[in-house]
Amino acid sequence: MIPPLMDFSRLCVHTVTTKPWGIEETVRRYSAAGVKGITIWREAFLDKGPAATGQLVRDHGLKVVSLCRGGFFAASSANRRAKAIDDNRHCIDEAAALGAPLVVLVCGAEPGQALGDSRKQISDGIAAVLPHAAAAKVRLAVEPLHPMYAGDRCAINTLGQAREICGRLNSPWIGVAVDVYHTWWDDRLRDEIGACGRGGWLFAFHVSDWRLPTVDLLEDRGLMGEGCIPIREIREWVEGAGFTGFIEVEIFSRRLWAGDQAQYLESIKDAYLSRV
Ligand code: ZN
Repeated sequence: MIPPLMDFSRLCVHTVTTKPWGIEETVRRYSAAGVKGITIWREAFLDKGPAATGQLVRDHGLKVVSLCRGGFFAASSANRRAKAIDDNRHCIDEAAALGAPLVVLVCGAEPGQALGDSRKQISDGIAAVLPHAAAAKVRLAVEPLHPMYAGDRCAINTLGQAREICGRLNSPWIGVAVDVYHTWWDDRLRDEIGACGRGGWLFAFHVSDWRLPTVDLLEDRGLMGEGCIPIREIREWVEGAGFTGFIEVEIFSRRLWAGDQAQYLESIKDAYLSRV
């Protein structure tokens, strides 16, 4: 097994992880804590807008790692699919204004529609926005979501399905985000990470943990070490496949949001060194 991380030079935290803080406090606190990267959720710049938020982040010595999130391409009506494509172009423009090199895609699913149809719409939707992404020099990452979200949130549920899209679209602007929470259960994960590495598609790596029992499907993720995911082993696979980018802590947890966020950020740093 690879050794633990020795410092915070690759630590990125998602704004949603410490959701109770507004964007100014988030940036100030991350910077003071020695966090080096930040992934911004679109809700976080509602007040300031993306350009001013990007400036704020840079003024505090942080690097914008990605913008979350675009996607939601699957829809039964052509109208809604066209609207999703427009929204994704807008999201890419926001990423460019923010200074984010990457937009993470939660691809979408239409309740009642066959998953294969949703996957085709997702691939077509990404193909439609790729020229815009290339022109803006913003990369797109398909993030497979755990199959518990296949009904209404994301029809791309394995890294293999995400890789297929990358292979089909064949562009340097499309790749994958590997999130341990969504992918740890997959017996093909190690091989797929290797294949994504060979394709040049490993764009992002997200960490959190799977609690037992999980009491809420959306908002009960664990801090690294609180659950059953072999996080360091998966990091070994990802790095063995050539990934050297930021390690992004992305935790939605009503339980953790309810506590003192400054203490929580220190716990994240401890868990990053001891469990990732
Ligand atoms: Zn993620």
